[in-house]
Amino acid sequence: MFEKLLVANRGEIAIRVMAACEELGVETVAIYSDADRNAGHVEYADEAYNVGPAPAADSYLDGETIVETAKRAGADAIHPGYGFLAENAEFARRVEAAEGLTWVGPESDTMERLGEKTKARTVMDAAGVPVVPGTNDPVETPEEVAELGEEYGYPIAIKAEGGGGGRGMKIVRGPDEVEDALETARREGEAYFGNDSVYVEKYLDSPKHIEVQVLADEHGNVRHLGERDCSLQRRHQKVIEEAPSPSLTAALREDIGEAARRGVGEAGYTNAGTVEFLVEDGEFYFMEVNTRIQVEHTVSEEITGIDIVAWQIRIAAGEELDFGQDDVEFDGHAIEFRINAENPAKEFAPTPGRLETYDPPSSVGVRLDHAVSQADDIGGDYDSMIAKLIVHAPDRDRCFRRSERALKHFEVEGVHTTIPFHRLMLDDDAFRRGEHTTKYLDEELDAER
Ligand code: ADP
Repeated sequence: MFEKLLVANRGEIAIRVMAACEELGVETVAIYSDADRNAGHVEYADEAYNVGPAPAADSYLDGETIVETAKRAGADAIHPGYGFLAENAEFARRVEAAEGLTWVGPESDTMERLGEKTKARTVMDAAGVPVVPGTNDPVETPEEVAELGEEYGYPIAIKAEGGGGGRGMKIVRGPDEVEDALETARREGEAYFGNDSVYVEKYLDSPKHIEVQVLADEHGNVRHLGERDCSLQRRHQKVIEEAPSPSLTAALREDIGEAARRGVGEAGYTNAGTVEFLVEDGEFYFMEVNTRIQVEHTVSEEITGIDIVAWQIRIAAGEELDFGQDDVEFDGHAIEFRINAENPAKEFAPTPGRLETYDPPSSVGVRLDHAVSQADDIGGDYDSMIAKLIVHAPDRDRCFRRSERALKHFEVEGVHTTIPFHRLMLDDDAFRRGEHTTKYLDEELDAER
């Protein structure tokens, strides 16, 4: 096992990783920007180092300084969390190349192969996993796009190779929209992901977003931990996630899980990863692989009892998974609510400010992953998520009731949050019935306006 691990991240995920380290007997190193001197993750760590000014580009994204810091601290491993450098193959390569340092994640080559969406589509295709109809190569000209529009039928999506979270994705509803959409997708791809390469997919009308958590060790063992349903999205961003999905048949669940396992197995993948699918009319289509821990990994942990983050570290240290696929059992239902410092009444605009009151719920079935406490200042430098509330219960119905209780007792004053929005969602018929698709929330919110 490692002796000392540096977490190249901030906020709740930094603490989540350090919590796993503690249980494994690994010392922890935090990094922080000037804006985060007093942040929760800094306080939590055994030691902490400043890596630069507030803008992420000068601190949390400065790979060179982070690797230097790890060496200086005497760390022997780096965990990237999610966001920032987590899916940056170049950074992973830098860590791999640094003497005495181990990258907690898949190999940089694998990240590269699966991180670019068209390459990943090719890999999955070859493994016999159904992919969303579309191109496996980048497209260049508006003419090419228009031809594909004819072939698949509109709407189609132009997607940035490196895109994610809906960024770099443009929906095209007819030939006259092609030129603008192509330009915007390219521009966003370049701005957010440093890659202006784009490709085309059929845009599914009302799919479910279903993703499968996988764990793969360096000894050829691949396990899946079942699916998560992340269909409740606002502008392609996940808002509430749950496991298991309320809308899969047992047969489809089995097929998707096995497809994910086969896909990453054939790709020679190691460590934790997520295979994302769109599901429509009983068919599933591969969308992409996320080669990192995800925000919503928590709901899978709750229903399987498996510590995914600890396994990331153990796998990186060369350990073998000590359970078979048949040993993975699913217990009850779990829902994660992203508590963001945003104003739901004002188009979810971020609302920085001071947490005058911060009094989260507790008691049976309630888990909080957070890095804030009362009187903290919520700045505007990074994303607006202040906490994840994860609720676990024996079944979905009771999970809803438990969630109502938890959200009711979640007191925050000083900034607006998404808590009132979540409470409304628990009363929403389509969500309660599990009939919502990825389009549902945007349509509802549009209709209210
Ligand atoms: P990520 O899953 O990393 O956020 P994307 O930006 O590719 O990556 O997708 C974000 C969301 O956009 C998905 O969860 C899904 O709701 C929607 N989406 C992506 N591709 C398609 C598609 N071809 N058809 C319909 N919806 C899509």
